[in-house]
Amino acid sequence: MELSKIALSVSPSPTLAIDSKAKAMKAQGIDVIGFGAGEPDYDTPDNIKEAAVKAISEGKTKYTPASGIPELKKAVIKKFMDDNSIEYEQNNIVISNGAKHSLMNSFYAICNPGDEVVIPAPYWVSYPEFAKLAGAVPVFLYTKESEGFEFDIDTLKKHLTKKTKAISINSPSNPTGMIYSDELLTQIAQLAIERDLIIISDEIYESLTYDGIKHNSIVTLVPEVKDRTIIINGVSKTYAMTGWRIGYSATSAKITSIMSNIQSHGSSNPNTIAQYAAVEAITGPKDNVETMRQNFSLRRDYMVKTINDTPFLSCVKPLGAFYVMMNISQTKGKTYDNKVVIDSSDKFSELLLGDYNTAVVPGSGFGTDDHVRLSYATSMENIKKGLLRIAEFTAKIK
Ligand code: PMP
Ligand code: GLU
Repeated sequence: MELSKIALSVSPSPTLAIDSKAKAMKAQGIDVIGFGAGEPDYDTPDNIKEAAVKAISEGKTKYTPASGIPELKKAVIKKFMDDNSIEYEQNNIVISNGAKHSLMNSFYAICNPGDEVVIPAPYWVSYPEFAKLAGAVPVFLYTKESEGFEFDIDTLKKHLTKKTKAISINSPSNPTGMIYSDELLTQIAQLAIERDLIIISDEIYESLTYDGIKHNSIVTLVPEVKDRTIIINGVSKTYAMTGWRIGYSATSAKITSIMSNIQSHGSSNPNTIAQYAAVEAITGPKDNVETMRQNFSLRRDYMVKTINDTPFLSCVKPLGAFYVMMNISQTKGKTYDNKVVIDSSDKFSELLLGDYNTAVVPGSGFGTDDHVRLSYATSMENIKKGLLRIAEFTAKIK
């Protein structure tokens, strides 16, 4: 029996695979330190939980419009105005089952078979798969760690062909923590206008920036690209709401209606109760968000210093999100514990998890085999313990 060639070309999400492996080990009573999935260790704030309970008590438990409830769209519109100075209306917004779903809708809405989508690398694991599922071809723009994982506009131009439909950007970036400069974003926007490209701008980590650096949306900087940009955001990271599954997109009314049509068949509305909780998250008090951000910043500083103090390992300081790309290239080709040669980021990660119960995500899934990704969305205690284990592990590499 021949199954779908497109579907067969899609690989499983390595971040979720590592996370479920680590969680399964934990359930067996193994003392695992999980630097795997990017999931805040904090509980969802109480005011948000209470809004969900209230929604249930009030019987808000039925279908809603497929693209989301007006209350949440209004909250999202106000957020865009207050935080990004961008004006949207309800026909520009779709509420989805997580930002992942918003991204999937976006790629389906804009791609024709054979279209190319430029994806700067290291990239978040799901972008190439979204493109492939939509019949498009991911084109990778490889950036260098020595250049802070940034690229210049001429390099981007070299990746464009007649088939280029879109560029997919993510700032602050998962996995590098890089924040695009205003200058580069402005140049990307101008290029998109010149070459008639769509911009997918994943801004899910916008409120997690450090050292006083602010993320600016490409649409804030160049309002002319508003209708050709699909901004993606969501509540998972900012409000510690990963399990609630609410994300959203903002773009032209035309693309929005296509995305809404796709969603109306694919899933109908996102969870009704979670939508009411998300209204509270976006419109309610923000003190928890700031506390989490400050703690992430302290954890990042500790992690970066400790990694750079560990033989064979190094990393650059991320400016946003909650990941560190740890450079393991000096361990490659060397022998671990007198028996196994470390020949890849997968091997490094497998040995570390197997022998030291410490989960990291191999860089191979992000388009770089010289790195592994560590999330610092876990407690300082775990970070200290996990990094100690990593140091013991690398001490056995000769
Ligand atoms: N974009 C990026 C860059 C992410 O890291 C994630 C994390 N899962 C998502 C989108 C999707 O988030 P969610 O589906 O939980 O809203
Ligand atoms: N985005 C997070 C990560 O990169 C969560 C897992 C996922 O959705 O892929 O780890």
